[in-house]
Amino acid sequence: MCFRPVRKKEPIYVNQTTYRRRRRPARGDAPRAQSPRPAPESRTRRPAPPATPEILAAVAASPFSALGLSTPLARAVLDEGYTTPSPVQTEVIPAAVSGRDVLAGAQTGTGKTAAFVLPILQQLALDDGPRGGIRALIVTPTRELAAQIAERIEAYGRYLELGHTVIYGGVSQQKQEAALRRCPDVLVATPGRLLDLMQQGLVRLDQVRHFVLDEADRMLDMGFVHDVRRISAAVPAVRQTLLFSATVPPAIEKLAGGMLTRPLRVAIQPRLTTAESVEQSVIFVAKADKRRLLESVLRDEAVERAIVFTRTKHGANRLSQQLSKSGIGSEAIHGNKSQNARERALGAFKSGRTRVLVATDVAARGIDVDGISHVINFDLPNVAESYVHRVGRTGRAGAAGRAISFCDREERGLLTDIERLIRCRLRVQGA
Ligand code: AMP
Repeated sequence: MCFRPVRKKEPIYVNQTTYRRRRRPARGDAPRAQSPRPAPESRTRRPAPPATPEILAAVAASPFSALGLSTPLARAVLDEGYTTPSPVQTEVIPAAVSGRDVLAGAQTGTGKTAAFVLPILQQLALDDGPRGGIRALIVTPTRELAAQIAERIEAYGRYLELGHTVIYGGVSQQKQEAALRRCPDVLVATPGRLLDLMQQGLVRLDQVRHFVLDEADRMLDMGFVHDVRRISAAVPAVRQTLLFSATVPPAIEKLAGGMLTRPLRVAIQPRLTTAESVEQSVIFVAKADKRRLLESVLRDEAVERAIVFTRTKHGANRLSQQLSKSGIGSEAIHGNKSQNARERALGAFKSGRTRVLVATDVAARGIDVDGISHVINFDLPNVAESYVHRVGRTGRAGAAGRAISFCDREERGLLTDIERLIRCRLRVQGA
């Protein structure tokens, strides 16, 4: 099933008095751990104008309310233009709002972020327990994913008074320390920086009640398994755990075995088998001719916004420079670039200033840019699963997209691996 993001509409405002009232402490409650708290930058302070009966009715009738989401969250989701929950949301949200553990096999692009963010925000907002510590922890492999999850929390939580912050490596920790001192309710983190700050005594996880592992298979691939175990051990055992992974191989089952309690298991079909909207093809080409071929593909007007994948960081840099010399503006994004340079490149790509992004697999992981018309595999990936992730950058949320793979003589074996994994032969296109 496809779900289509709708063009952003004006926010729908609903009176949220009921919601606020539930959060007020009862007479005789113990004082909150740190009160009053200074508001983190991420705390939403936009006053909600009173709702019209039509708006209230629209929110009440929304399929997101039917999943058990409260009015402020259902309203925020409608603001985002979502009309129908995606399959992973339909399955996960009702269980997760009731506090159940979940093990979900779902890739980026399926709407998985909302599937874990919405239930967590709901439970935090309704929890009348003590405040002043991190109550939800979301661990994700890359900086880009961490930033995107934080951006989603901001959007979905816009009518709640919850604070969040995001920490990741590659940037100075000073600002992150300051944000942590403001006691966010939700912390989004990459494993390395989180452990660093924990060791320095700057992060305490003893108040965490909701723990999310996002893209768990990728964390294992990136060698974070011990970090993840250490983080999990630092989170109180009495908690809700939500584990999301694109694939669920035995290593993930093993990890989940020790962390989850009678989880709801959800398996969402890999996007490749369902995303019929992506037209995939392969072009057989000599290695030496790949660059010329790429230039001619990119000059086609149908290419509105393209990600070109290379196998190495060096290859990404060189190719981007060569394209620029030929008059095709592009940016390269890979792990050797500073966080600022990556953000600049991504910003230029998102805004449309740059039409072509040349990327390596790890750097492109989790890039959430709408309207990517083409994914071009300049080099085929060494690992067939990476093909699935690459192609998932286009055709997002049901939109049309094209994936073109260049295959030289030495890459024939890799092509066979990919075709075996996706259980289909790629259409052969003339060079
Ligand atoms: P994710 O899989 O979380 O990376 O989400 C992929 C994209 O789908 C993001 O741009 C979301 O904003 C969007 N999205 C998530 N849920 C929905 C929905 N129910 N309807 C439309 N778009 C959605």
